[in-house]
This record gives sequence, structure tokens and C-alpha cells, in this order.
Amino acid sequence: MSFLESPVTALHGVGAVRAAAYERLGIRKTEDLLWHFPRSYENRGDIRTLAEATVGEKQAFLLTVATKPTLAKIKRGMSLVKFRAFDATGTCEITYFNQDFLKNSFEVGREYRFYGKLEQKAKRYAMSSPAHEEWSEEKPLASLFPIYPSAEGLTQKQIKAGVHEVLSAAARELTDHLPDGIRLKNRLPALMTALRGIHTPETYEDLIAAKRRLVYDELFLFALSLRLSAKRERQTGAPIFSDGDLSPFLALLPYRLTGAQTRAIGDILADVAKETPMNRILVGDVGCGKTVCAAAALYTAVKNGHQGALMVPTEILARQHAADLAPLFEKLGIRVTLLLGALTEKQKREARAAIAAHETDVVIGTQALIGEGVEFATLGLVVIDEQHRFGVNQRAWLTEKGRHVHTLVMSATPIPRTLALTVYGGLDISKIDEIPPGRQKVETFFVGESYRERLEAFVRKQVAEGGCVYIVCPAVEESDAEEGEILLSELGELYSPEKKTPLKSAVAYTKELSERHPDLRISFVHGKMKSADKDKVMRAFAGGEIDVLVSTTVIEVGVNVPNACLMIVENADRFGLSQLHQLRGRVGRGTRKSYCVLVSDTNGENAKKRLKTMCATNDGYEIAETDLKLRGPGDFLRANANMGIRQSGGTEFRIADLCDDGDVLLRAFTDAEEFLAARALAEYPTLLEKVQGMLAENETRIN
Ligand code: ADP
Ligand code: MG
Repeated sequence: MSFLESPVTALHGVGAVRAAAYERLGIRKTEDLLWHFPRSYENRGDIRTLAEATVGEKQAFLLTVATKPTLAKIKRGMSLVKFRAFDATGTCEITYFNQDFLKNSFEVGREYRFYGKLEQKAKRYAMSSPAHEEWSEEKPLASLFPIYPSAEGLTQKQIKAGVHEVLSAAARELTDHLPDGIRLKNRLPALMTALRGIHTPETYEDLIAAKRRLVYDELFLFALSLRLSAKRERQTGAPIFSDGDLSPFLALLPYRLTGAQTRAIGDILADVAKETPMNRILVGDVGCGKTVCAAAALYTAVKNGHQGALMVPTEILARQHAADLAPLFEKLGIRVTLLLGALTEKQKREARAAIAAHETDVVIGTQALIGEGVEFATLGLVVIDEQHRFGVNQRAWLTEKGRHVHTLVMSATPIPRTLALTVYGGLDISKIDEIPPGRQKVETFFVGESYRERLEAFVRKQVAEGGCVYIVCPAVEESDAEEGEILLSELGELYSPEKKTPLKSAVAYTKELSERHPDLRISFVHGKMKSADKDKVMRAFAGGEIDVLVSTTVIEVGVNVPNACLMIVENADRFGLSQLHQLRGRVGRGTRKSYCVLVSDTNGENAKKRLKTMCATNDGYEIAETDLKLRGPGDFLRANANMGIRQSGGTEFRIADLCDDGDVLLRAFTDAEEFLAARALAEYPTLLEKVQGMLAENETRIN
């Protein structure tokens, strides 16, 4: 057995206890340590003098020890090691608590690199428990000091020692699995260089190149495994629905299908007429009429002697669908069963019995209920609505159970075609790019701060006429990095620090606005509020007790307030266009003429173009395509992360981030596609092995 395949106990000083700690980190073989990447890096290379340092911030200092460390027991169970150290600009008192052994770790006259928070009392500098490393001219210390995700029973030092040991073994044993051609084309460093660069970076540039390679690696393998597993799934058989005549169904509809609906239904009927299971996603803006397409598919399944299931994320949606579809299906002799958590155990039992005995044709319910031990007599089609609201597990269930049935997934998140390919993996895509005629358009304007007064007058006018108003402010995101640390996940953005304009905060803004308009009823909601409190405010707003609701993007989904006729979006340049589009969908839901005003003083050309797109169109796809073009995939995905795009990939990545690494994702997918088309995989045994490993891992996760 090679060293890399050995259990971690093969490492120096690792016994059963430490191996158990490693196990908690998911590390079993020594090789696993290679892929256990640092969480962040302390920047210890930026050395300050005591005089120029900022008090209270973590920084690095190069200090010479001036006095012999003394050990003092201050009270029971508490001791201090204390000494003074200096540089050219001053002297600092250094203290360590309860680490008696450090008394002998410092030598008077020697230089050390200290990293910690500097404090200043009167004219004296002090530091408590700074990290310290011996410094010498011959062996300079690396600037970037990696911090690893850890577990109880493992110190950073021990992890680092382990990583170093495995790195030297890897230099002998590890083969780069990425084909040279692909690596060179993407100008990526070799695997070993990248691993050294991520674990022991000498410079930022090393680290960034290493990260690029490892991110690419992960996404390329992801792309390969997705393509291969999708292909495999397609080989299994499903019932053939040879009778695709929809005329009785269509005759009952109160409207004519749009061209886009007809095309989508055509795609579906072509799929289900084959033995290869349908694996299709139907995407289209909110209100474009996806439900009727699903109904057509369910009708076809039933007409061909099979049952169908319609799975939705919430019970409310299940009831809504049932109310819409049951009357139609009834006329066609199709029996519908609603499976809800609110049913009594007895009712649920009866429903399941009917499903198993083929005494019902179409089952509507939440995924949780349908997935839980429901045995169908002859399930032929599963439709999943609002796919983006389902988590990873539900998709896994689908792949497992859905092997021999046709599946149709529906989503209202507009994703541009290029990205859809990657986000939806192995699914075929039908798009409804047309809204049924007669919908009212939300009039949209893009204005600057100079319009503030007129804007507030407009708010008053809408309220006076009985309408109500949303004002949306961007949420300020907080990072969970320790101050001064560089998060691995944020690396790469470091070089493009965005210039930030002052952001409106919902709470402060509400106060300001209330002072200017004491007669208006103004309130706020934001994401950090308890959900009960949020609901209370939302209900008051829906009930007409609030005129103006200031909020963060929490109102984006699932709120229906027909009286809302004006939405103002502050710092509008901060939002993704798709997000603005979803936000705008909150107004214009009743009969009132509705408006959306985007406020921004941005002078960015791109930002202006994006906001003008919003004014020009109400089409979610056109908006998404433009957004992608103007922002690039990385920013696009980041801006849309909260719209379900991130999780639909269904995979957890070690280092890649679908949002940050959107452009790499596209490249990796294109490369994988070309690579598979050239049928070259068999020539790269290490790569093949990696992909197979990944596929096997996914299978176990599913089963
Ligand atoms: P979504 O795609 O968001 O699920 P729905 O299927 O709920 O949209 O459709 C929204 C509304 O549009 C429904 O009230 C539906 O009856 C109506 N509708 C669907 N297709 C058409 C059409 N071709 N012409 C007119 N109205 C339609
Ligand atoms: Mg819908």
C-alpha cells in the first residue's frame, strides 16, 4: 500500500486518539489531508513597527526579546509569562496566560515574529498571547500563515505537521490527473505545485494560482461526473405514452395556449413517447403558464394507463394546484388525490391505499409526503414544481426513485441558456419565453438622488389614493472571517475591491422617513428579525394597516399584496437584475396601475445599462441574459445566489463556489464536453479513477 493510501495513523505521532479527531474532519487516509485546505490565511508578512501599527488590530511585528521571561503565579490556577521586546520604534510588554512552558521558549537578544493585537496604555505598548515564530535572515518565514478547519483534539500545529509529511510523500507518489492539454490551455499549475501553493504559499500569486487550479479541478471533475451519470441514467426504460392526442384536454381550457406553451408541450410529448425516461426542466417566468403544461403531461400519462404525481414545495401551493386542476381533470374523468400533512392518519392511509390500488390517477402533494413510502400501482410521470425551492436531498430522491418514470421539473428562476446547461446538469431544457396576453406591465423608472423630493411626493400620492408602497434597501452582508484574516473563499476578489457607495439601512431609513412624513404609517422588516415578528409586520401590511413598508430583500418571495402599487428600490445598482425582476413581481398583482422606481446615483456604465434594461422590459429571460452579459458569470451567480441557483447544482464543493467561480464553471463544462466527445477518458486512468470515485460517492449519498 502506498503511503498516500495508508490510514492517518501512518503519520508521525498519530495514534488512535488523534486518528479519531481526524475522522471527525472526514480525514481517514493520509491523502485526505492533501485535500483538507486551509480555511484562511493570516497575513503575517506585512510587518509593522510598533509606532506605525494600528492599536487594536491584528498585525505582525518583528521584535527582539529584551528581558528574560518571568513566570508568576497570580492566583490559583492562573499564571503569567511576561517579558519585554523591542524594535527601532518602541518597546512592548508581552504576556502569555497559563502557558508556563513558554518561559523557556524565548531567548534574550533574538528576533521573533509576533502576530497579535497591539494595545497601548499611556505610552506603553502591550500584547497578550500573540502568535510567535523564531525569525532568522537565513530562513525567512512565509508571509501567509494558513489556518485549517480543525476538530477537538487536534491543534493547528499538528495538522500542519501532518500536511507537510503528506506533501513530501505526494511529491513521490501523486500523479496529476488533469490531462496536460487541458491544464496548459487553461494556464494552470501542475497538481503538486498547486497543492504546495495552497498549503504553504510563499506569495499571494502562488496562492491565487493554486486556488485557480484546484477550483478548476473540482469543477472539471464535477462536470465529467455529471455528464457521465446523466448518460447512465438515460439508459434505463420508462413507459411509452404512445397516445399523445390532447384535443379533449385543450377543448376544456378557457384560453388558447401561447406559442411557447405549445412548443414546451411538444417537447414533453416527444420525450414521453420514448422508452428513455424524460429528464426535462421547464423554465419560465412567474405567470407564464407552466401549470397547464404540467397538466397536459399528467393528462397524457393517465390517458396511457399510468399514474402521475405533482410534487410542490409547500402545502399552500399543493392546495392551489389542486383547486386549479381538479375541476379540469374531473371533466376528463381523471381522479385526483391531494396528499397533505394536515390530513389525519386515517385519511393519509386511505389515500395511500387508493394510490396503491390505482383507484386514483393524479396525486398532488408535497415532496415529503409523496416521497415517504407511497407505493404507486403504476407511476409513469413525476412533475416537480418550483424546483429551485427543493434542496439537495429531494433531487437525490428523484434520481433514485425516478429511474423508470418520466420526470418534468419546473422552475421560475430565469437562468440564461449558457448557465442553465451547467446549473441543471443532465436535464433537457424547455423554455417558455412568452407571457399570456393581457397582463399589466409594471411601469419602471430609473432615477437619481435628485429626484428624492418628487419621489416622496409620488409615494404620498399613491397612499392618498389607497395604495401601499414597498421601499427596498440592500442587505449588508457580513463576513465570518476573523478580522485581519484572508478567507480562502474570498481570495481572488482581493484584487478587485469594489468601490462602495453608502448603503441605506432599512432601520435608519424608516426613522428618517417617519420624521419627514409623520402622517404616513411606515414600518420595516429585515432578515435578522424573528420570523414571527416578520410575519406580523407583513400581515399588517397586507391588511392595509401600513402605508409604506421599508425592507431588505426578505419580501422577495411568496408575498401577495394586491394593493401594493409602487416599489422603490434604493441603491438599485447593488442588486442582481433577476433579483430586481423578482422584487418587481411583488407589485402589479392587483388591478391598480403599478410602478417600480429604481434609485441609484451610480456612474458605472454597466450598472446604468443594467438598470435601463429593467425599464425597457418585463421579460425575466431578457433581463437575465443581459445581466449575465454585463456582469460576467461570477457576479451574475453571486448576485443570484439567493434565488436558488446555487443549490440546484446539488453538490457541495471543497473549494469551488458556483457563485465566485462562475466563469471557471463555464470553461470546465465546455472542456469536459469536448474531452468526452473526443472519447479520451479511457486514456487517462488516474482521471477515470477520480471520476469513478466521485460517481460512487454520489451514489452512496443517494441511497
Ligand atoms: P406559472 O408559470 O408561474 O406557474 P401559472 O401556470 O400559474 O404560471 O399561470 C398563471 C396564470 O395564467 C394562471 O391563472 C393561468 O390560468 C393563466 N394562463 C396560463 N396560460 C394561459 C394562456 N395561454 N392564456 C391566458 N392565460 C393563461
Ligand atoms: Mg407555478
